[in-house]
Amino acid sequence: MANVGRLPIRSEVEALHERIVATRRDFHEHPELSWQEQRTQRVILERLRELGLSDVRPIAKTGATGLVEGGKKGRCILWRADMDALPVPEKSALPFASKTPDVMHACGHDTHMAIGLGLAEALAARKEKFAGSVRFVFQPAEEAAGGAQACIADGVLDAPKVDVVLGLHISADVPLGGINVAPGPFFAAPTAFRITIEGRGGHAAAPHQSIDAVVVAAHVITALQTVVSRSVAPSDAAVLTVGKVTGGFRGNVIAESATLAGTIRSYTDPVRETLLRRTEEIVAGVCAAFGATFEFDHQTSCPPLVNDPAIAAFVREQGVGYFGANKILAAPSMGAEDMGVFLEQRPGCYFWLGARNEAKGIAGRHHDPAFVIDEDALLIGVEFGLRLIEGQLSAK
Ligand SMILES: [Zn+2]
Ligand SMILES: [Zn+2]
Repeated sequence: MANVGRLPIRSEVEALHERIVATRRDFHEHPELSWQEQRTQRVILERLRELGLSDVRPIAKTGATGLVEGGKKGRCILWRADMDALPVPEKSALPFASKTPDVMHACGHDTHMAIGLGLAEALAARKEKFAGSVRFVFQPAEEAAGGAQACIADGVLDAPKVDVVLGLHISADVPLGGINVAPGPFFAAPTAFRITIEGRGGHAAAPHQSIDAVVVAAHVITALQTVVSRSVAPSDAAVLTVGKVTGGFRGNVIAESATLAGTIRSYTDPVRETLLRRTEEIVAGVCAAFGATFEFDHQTSCPPLVNDPAIAAFVREQGVGYFGANKILAAPSMGAEDMGVFLEQRPGCYFWLGARNEAKGIAGRHHDPAFVIDEDALLIGVEFGLRLIEGQLSAK
């Protein structure tokens, strides 16, 4: 493990380590789906009150917040942790596996809450010593939509006005003892789409009397593969995936309609607009060619997550000091993360915290029923998070 720099006494560190592991395991045993985090909320509110935080209150229906106020006035740093689990049946074989059937902390948000509470405890213990304040936000419904917006609507960015937003995601990919952080776009904006193609049904043996929606859908899917490859600049990141196809009744009936569902991912509004415009033009053109009609619906649930260049450089620099230069990755992804909603409002940085440990056989995949992480990442998260918060509190 890296040095235990800012936490003064070994016994204090060990006691904190035991508490955050116990906290994480309790959340892991009792996972709750998006917008249903009632028990989780209760546990967090109780803990924040015990720690003596101010402005402890429920937010965003099933979320929670609290403030650690330093001895002197200064900047305000917001630390965000998400709370929700997934509709995944746990198959991890952990002794503290989920007790709720078909619900599991398979993305690691249990660890985010444990690290958040560990940070709140460490900061509350030294609040007289620092200037400024730290707002903790426990956000519901990251895996669904609207959790981040609901927290902001409940005023977490104001009173005191937040200067910088920080947070982390545990990573089953990044090795323990390292991070992944980069300036600029780090997660993509996700746009869900649905294309409904209407043809004309009929007997499979009389295709000339019909408009086969399955054939049209097949051409649409193939033509859509050119949206990214032919209409987006090679230097811009973009994804278009058709993940679901439905249509038809049986093998000897020509389908009257077919539906395609998919996702578009982009880092910028202009690229998203290009992807949507070309998708619609291609669907319209192909459908017209075959005499079919269509509907095209889409919804973008959150913005891209864009890290502030200066604050990302600060996180990287702290990471080099704490983990070592060869332990810092800089690999943005086209995944989605609604922390981007906070980072649209305030400068800040979000990063991946390594928790993979192949030497111990800990090599999970996010959202998988067998998802696992190395719990040594919890204390590392608290220590490194503390460095970041203290560094940002004293920044000019
Ligand atoms: Zn997830
Ligand atoms: Zn997640």
